[in-house]
Order: sequence, then structure tokens, then C-alpha cells
Amino acid sequence: MDLFEGEIIDREAARRHYVLDDTGFDEVPKKYRKFYRQWRGAGDSLAPNEVLCPVCRVVIRSSRELRVGDRVYCMPCMSRLVIVRNAATGTLEARAEH
Ligand SMILES: [Zn+2]
Repeated sequence: MDLFEGEIIDREAARRHYVLDDTGFDEVPKKYRKFYRQWRGAGDSLAPNEVLCPVCRVVIRSSRELRVGDRVYCMPCMSRLVIVRNAATGTLEARAEH
């Protein structure tokens, strides 16, 4: 919650960085595995540096917190995605770029 308020007050504040660990995601070459994980369904939740691929439902993980306008690449399904804010829920989500 403090993160959300901080984002409103100062969008240019330094982003939180994350150390990513390999979660055993084996659909991509080993050096890229830490950037993805399986979505565990109901009960799972996304960290500020994670977003769900709308195409293949894999969780894409970034080494820094994600913000609107960021572009991410889903290697498992080769989708280029852009981060947007869902107007209804206020949460960040990825949309496919065309
Ligand atoms: Zn995908």
C-alpha cells in the first residue's frame, strides 16, 4: 500500500529493484528462467515487478518494479507487451503491442 501512495506522490522516485531467483520455469533457456514463473491461479498474487502475460498466462518478472509504459517481452509465447493501468481495478497489467 505504501508503494501505491508513493507512486502517486512522486512518479520519478527511484524504482525498487529486485533480485530474481530461478523458480524452475523450464520453457525458456536457463539464463532467462528467472524472468518467468508459472501463474499458480486463484490465491496467487503479483509483486510490483511482476505482470501476467495476457496471451499465455505466464508471469513475467522484472528486476525493477514495473510502471505504466514499460515494455516487456514474453519469451515463452514471443509476445511484445506494454504495461498499462486497468481503469476498473487500478492495477497494472500487460497488453499485447500490435
Ligand atoms: Zn506469453
